Parts: sequence; C-alpha cells; structure tokens
Amino acid sequence: MMKGFSSFIQNIDEEQQKKIDRSAFLYLDPVEPENEFAQCSTCYHFLPGKQRCSLFGKNDKVIADASCGLYINGEPRDDQEITNWITPKQAGYVLGQVRCENCHHYEDSKCMLFDYINEKMSDTFDLDVNVDSKGCCNGWQKKQMNEMSVPAGTTGKRKQWNPPMVGIRMASGKIEKHPPGKSGSSGGGGAGNGGGD
Ligand code: SF4
Ligand code: SF4
Repeated sequence: MMKGFSSFIQNIDEEQQKKIDRSAFLYLDPVEPENEFAQCSTCYHFLPGKQRCSLFGKNDKVIADASCGLYINGEPRDDQEITNWITPKQAGYVLGQVRCENCHHYEDSKCMLFDYINEKMSDTFDLDVNVDSKGCCNGWQKKQMNEMSVPAGTTGKRKQWNPPMVGIRMASGKIEKHPPGKSGSSGGGGAGNGGGD
C-alpha cells in the first residue's frame, strides 16, 4: 500500500518536472489540402454557403480565408446550428493565411519564437523548433515588412519600418520587451493569435 502511494507521489513529481512542450502553443502539423490548412475553409465549424461559423452569432460574417484559435480540421457544412457560443474577438478571429510559412517567426523550417523561448527559459520549456511550413500554432504573427519604401517619384528616401516590440514573461516573472521573431541576439516575440489582412 505504502509502496503504491510513494510511486504515485513519484509519478506526480516526475509529471511536474517535465518541461512544457509545444502542445502548449497548440502547434498542429498540416493535413491535406495543406494550402488551406488552418483556414475556415477546412474547419468543422464553418458553414460555407452561409459564410458563418457555428460558434459565433448569426450576424457574424466569416470567410473561408480567415481562421481562429478554435479551428478544428474537418468537413465544413451548412446544416449545423449557429450557437452564439463565443464572439469572434474572444476566439481570436483573424483574416489571413495563418500557416508557419506566413508567420513572422518562421525561418528555414524552424520556429524562431520557440527557439527564443527555449533559450530564455530552458528550465521550463523544451519546444521542438522544427516546424512544417504548412503547420500552425497560436503564436502565429503576421509576417512584418522589414522596410517600407515611399512611392517612387515622391522622395528618394526610404523609410525604416520598426516592428512593434512584444513583451515576454521571464522565469523571474519580469516582463522583457523584444522585437518579434528572430532568435538569439536579435530577440523574439511573445505568443498570441493576432494580426490579419
Ligand atoms: S472562425 Fe474559427 S472555429 Fe469558426 S470556422 Fe473559422 S476557424 Fe473554424
Ligand atoms: S510561432 Fe509561427 S512559425 Fe512558430 S510554430 Fe507558430 S505559426 Fe509556426
């Protein structure tokens, strides 16, 4: 009896000592059709003919090229109830192609956000940084332009585009500000489903 109890406690200890993996970010590998993966057009909750989501309200228009944090891969169909269960804002509804290939943190089949978090919080996180270009996760951030040009003929000067800084909570509890994406010396970003077209 005592032996059973101590192995139960040991199991809990081992469970608590496990580092957090990328499932915490809801990373998903793609399924066919990969070019539509993670979009409403391949989501179980989508009503394609009505341009609605079964989770939102009846007046909330939803388009095939959008996505949200409640995506479930499946067959869209119009014969489902519109439940008004959550608002688009609460679900993180975004317009745009939300796969890794279009994410600010994606670089050569690697997720630089995961890489950054591993580096900064190695005691807590062990995130697999190898991602599929057609995969996705809740840390997706729309790719930023590094530089913007003013229209030709107005002035010859090029404007620098400074991406917004994002906050990330360190193991100490302190929030540090970093530019999103790009690990190592150039910093990284915090998780969150944001952006849009
Ligand atoms: S809004 Fe979200 S849950 Fe609704 S159809 Fe699109 S991806 Fe699915
Ligand atoms: S943060 Fe971006 S690149 Fe990294 S797994 Fe999520 S979607 Fe892919």
